[in-house]
Formats: sequence, structure tokens, C-alpha cells
Amino acid sequence: MEAPEKSNTLPVLVVGAGVAGLTAALDLARLGIPSHLIERDGFLGGQVMRLDKLYPSDHCAFCPVWTEGAACSSHPLVTVHPLTSLEELESADGRIAAVLAERTPAVDPDSCVFCGLCRQTCESKGVAGAITLRPPALTWDPSAPPVPVLDPGLCSRCGACETVCPTKAISPSRLDSPAKNVRLEVADVIFATGFTERNPSPVAEYGQPDHPDIFTALDFETWTGEAGPNSGAVKRRSNGATPRSIAFIQCAGARDRRFLPYCSSVCCMHGLKQARWIKRRLPEASVALFYTDLRAVGKGYEGYARAAAEEGVLLVRGRPGIVFSLPQEGSTPVLALRYEDTATAKTLTAEFDMVVLNGGLAACPLPGESRLEPDRAQTCGFCREPADVAQAVVQGARSAALVAARLSAGGKL
Ligand SMILES: Cc1cc2nc3c(=O)[nH]c(=O)nc-3n(C[C@H](O)[C@H](O)[C@H](O)COP(=O)(O)OP(=O)(O)OC[C@H]3O[C@@H](n4cnc5c(N)ncnc54)[C@H](O)[C@@H]3O)c2cc1C
Repeated sequence: MEAPEKSNTLPVLVVGAGVAGLTAALDLARLGIPSHLIERDGFLGGQVMRLDKLYPSDHCAFCPVWTEGAACSSHPLVTVHPLTSLEELESADGRIAAVLAERTPAVDPDSCVFCGLCRQTCESKGVAGAITLRPPALTWDPSAPPVPVLDPGLCSRCGACETVCPTKAISPSRLDSPAKNVRLEVADVIFATGFTERNPSPVAEYGQPDHPDIFTALDFETWTGEAGPNSGAVKRRSNGATPRSIAFIQCAGARDRRFLPYCSSVCCMHGLKQARWIKRRLPEASVALFYTDLRAVGKGYEGYARAAAEEGVLLVRGRPGIVFSLPQEGSTPVLALRYEDTATAKTLTAEFDMVVLNGGLAACPLPGESRLEPDRAQTCGFCREPADVAQAVVQGARSAALVAARLSAGGKL
């Protein structure tokens, strides 16, 4: 690719380095427009980096993100800021200033010798997912070993990883060190802040937040993923046993005025994906997906849903009215679901070893967006509207094109 000409414009701020933000920053760079790509996590790729496989192809989730991440971190017109959040925007006389908070990394990549002891120790203490291995955000080089990244929400700060680290590269206490504030002047802003998953346990019927065998969908994807703590094996979290039955409950908390009063749009497809993968890995297990109505909108998506049924996933039209723990003599309690199968009008109770609650996806906030004139801010990906990867990529490209058009038409800087 030809080197882009040096640009005279101020950089554009791209907030969030999920698939939408990566696409926007790269498209801007290809048009010769510099950008600051800021990401509050210590790695690029957003939520997709927490996934195992990607529907509709069912290929590895990592590969498409890897290409974009590598291109962004090596492009001379993209300045990547990992562990950096947008706190606020200030706008006066047509100028935009962004206030950023930069956090210290808990792992020093220059001292890390990639021995993996920190992760092993953390997992041996029963904390799944607090330390994950990710490609380094600033030098996304295919030959570079992945660096451990600490999740501030999951890390208990017990310090066991620091004790075993031979080079003292890791230090959980750095997670809590004060962030450094940085101000940047920028031409325009593209918000690509994505979504967070909300646990629907405040909804009365799912009110068992501490039950180890109840998962949210992202939690389940990490727990069962090939790069996850069990290397792709499907196990109960309560006792490590192979489950005999798993239920997926769609719209759990979504389309519900008590919690999230809208459809998260992508969950039917990823519920089907997870159910299919479990059935493939555990052909003997009974796998049921409870749905309100299956929303499989996209090229080939309806066929994907049919294939799930053909492969043995039981599709039940009905939203369970209650999930409760059923004690078993001498063994771990199972989970019981009371539901009406609306296709047969029968009210039934079924028992499962594991339950996945699917549907609580909420857009992340857009800090300071209201301070900007509408043509100076673009919004793409899940924070704009529920979007799967294909839709988020298209929206990222659209935002970059709109910003480029405004700047080339002499947008005031
Ligand atoms: C369980 C599950 C399975 C899925 N499976 C599939 C699948 O198989 N196929 C598919 O197509 N889609 C799937 N999806 C949907 C997919 O995850 C989304 O389409 C995709 O993540 C959207 O990308 P995004 O860039 O819009 O947002 P995100 O991936 O959420 O990325 C947004 C980024 O912005 C960062 N950020 C947020 N706020 C700030 C801030 N203030 N400052 C700095 N950074 C910030 C976040 O840290 C994050 O990295 C699945 C979703 C779930 C929940």
C-alpha cells in the first residue's frame, strides 16, 4: 500500500477500539486522515475478543479482528491509546478538546517473560477470566507472544500473581493507581463505544445471581471457549462435571419494561450459535433454547436457525416464568425452569444442569456527545443501535466516510 500523504488536518478522535472503531480509524487512515484511537481496555478488538466463534461462518472470532488490529497499530496515521477512556468533551468557537484519562498498565510488557504463571495461579484460585492473554495493543506483531491483561472488574487484588511472577512484571495494585488526565484538540469525534452485558438477575424470575451454573451469554462464551479457562471443554461451574442438559433463555431481561425495554437484536443468533456449538461438543446432552420469537434477520441467518434444529437443538417457543434451584440428594442442585410451551399450550417444568441468560445488552454512554454540533460527531456500532459484527463494520466505514466528506468540503477545524 502506498504511504499516505502527510495530512494538514487535526486528528479525528475515535472512541472505542471494537470492530466499529477499528474500521473507522483504518478507513480514515486510508484516506490520509490522522486519528487518535482510544480504548479503555488494555487490548484492541472490543467484545469480539471475548468470543469463541463468530456466526454466521462459525470461524474463529479472533482472526478478522486480528487483521484490523494489526493494521491499526502499525499505521503511521493512527495513534493508538490503550487503557485510555474519554471522560469529557469541550467545544467552543468550533474547536473540540477531549479530556482523556490514561491508566497505568498492570503488566509491564517489557519485563513480562510470557511464562503464564500469573494466569495459572489466578485460575487455580478459581477466578476465571481475570487474567487473559491478549496481543499487545501497541505492537500487534504476529510473532510477539500475547501479554497477560488483568480485568479490573474480575481481579480480586489478592496479589498471588505478583508473588509468582519471576520478573515482577505484574502488579494488580496498579489497577487502582490514579489515571493521568490528557487533553487533545481534535477535528471531529467518532463514537464507537459498543455495549456492556447486564446481568438480568434483578428480574424476579432470574433472581439467583450467585448460582454458579447460571451464566450470562458472554460469561458462557468465555467459560466454554477454546481460549477460555477450560480450553473448550464444557463443564459445570459448580462441580466441574460434564452437564447432561443446558438451557438457553432468550430475551432474559430484554423486551421487558422492568429492565431493558427493547430487543437487543443480535442475541437470537448468538444464542443459536452457542447452542449449536454445545450440541456439537456434547452430542449426548439435551440442549434447549427458549425463545419469544426467533429474530434471525440477515443473509443466511434463517438457515442457520434451521440448521440448529436439524442438529438436535430443541427450540421451544416460550419464555420461562421462573428459574429455581432444585436440591438433589447427595449431589449438586440442578436448575428447574417453569414455562409455557406456547406452541402446544402446555405448562411444564424441566430440569437443567446449566442455564444461560441471553439478552441483556446495553449501549455504552457517549461522554460529552451532547456538547458537539451534530455534524461533528458520528456514532457507529453497538452504541448507535444493536449491531452484529457485519453491521458494526459497515457503520464504522460509514462514519469514516461522513467525517472525511465534511473535512474535504472544508469543514472548519
Ligand atoms: C455473547 C455474545 C456473542 C456474540 N456473538 C457474535 C457472533 O458470533 N457474530 C457476530 O457477528 N456478532 C456477535 N456478537 C455481537 C458482537 O459482539 C458485536 O456486534 C460487536 O462487539 C460490536 O462491536 P462494537 O465495535 O460496536 O462494540 P464493542 O465490541 O463493544 O467495542 C466497543 C469498545 O469501546 C470501548 N469503550 C467503551 N466506552 C469507552 C470510553 N468511554 N472510552 C474509551 N473506550 C471505550 C470498549 O472498551 C470496547 O472495547 C455477540 C455478542 C455477544 C454478547
